[in-house]
Amino acid sequence: MANLADDFSPPSSSSPSSSSSSAASLFKKPSSFLRSFSYHHRHPASKTSYKRFADEPKRPKVILYSTSLRGVRRTFADCCAVRAILRGFHVAVDERDVSMDVSYRCELQRLLGKGPPFSLPQVFIGNRWLGGADEVRQWHDAGELGRMLEGVVAQDPAFVCGGCGGVRFVLCSTCHGSRKVFVQEEGSVRRCDACNENGLLRCPHCCS
Ligand SMILES: [Zn+2]
Ligand SMILES: [Zn+2]
Repeated sequence: MANLADDFSPPSSSSPSSSSSSAASLFKKPSSFLRSFSYHHRHPASKTSYKRFADEPKRPKVILYSTSLRGVRRTFADCCAVRAILRGFHVAVDERDVSMDVSYRCELQRLLGKGPPFSLPQVFIGNRWLGGADEVRQWHDAGELGRMLEGVVAQDPAFVCGGCGGVRFVLCSTCHGSRKVFVQEEGSVRRCDACNENGLLRCPHCCS
């Protein structure tokens, strides 16, 4: 696989986003992902760089951390917009709705590291951070996004998972969503440890 990071570069100054902030500022944020961007750019063929990719699938997946809650209209609209932009490139989007599973929120916080509370959505290509709604829009407007998405897992945007109908979660088969299970030996009820806080399991067909 071509080293995706080698192809990544901020949009040129002649790009539509002439307000220098945006996409270029993405590279200034102190994140381990961004460090790996610049590292690979300098040493594309080094052994270390190969090792870093050894645990990745051959084709990286696009991962979108989002929320389905409509509480903050701007956030919800941003999630819809970014989802639509990504699907427009016919790539598979592994969407992780943090409002449906608190472990997704923890996972994202861990990936972004310590700092101010993150906004949603947030997009990764494999284990590399691409950015939030502003960054994705800017990469897109600058005509760079297609190149950045080259080589990722593809999918027809009309595809709907037969296992979950596109919800990405299924009802827990152990507690049927009640989050409680009866322990016969103890004659008591305890919390189901198979599902998440909403009595749901990640769809085994479309979610890793
Ligand atoms: Zn599914
Ligand atoms: Zn359960």
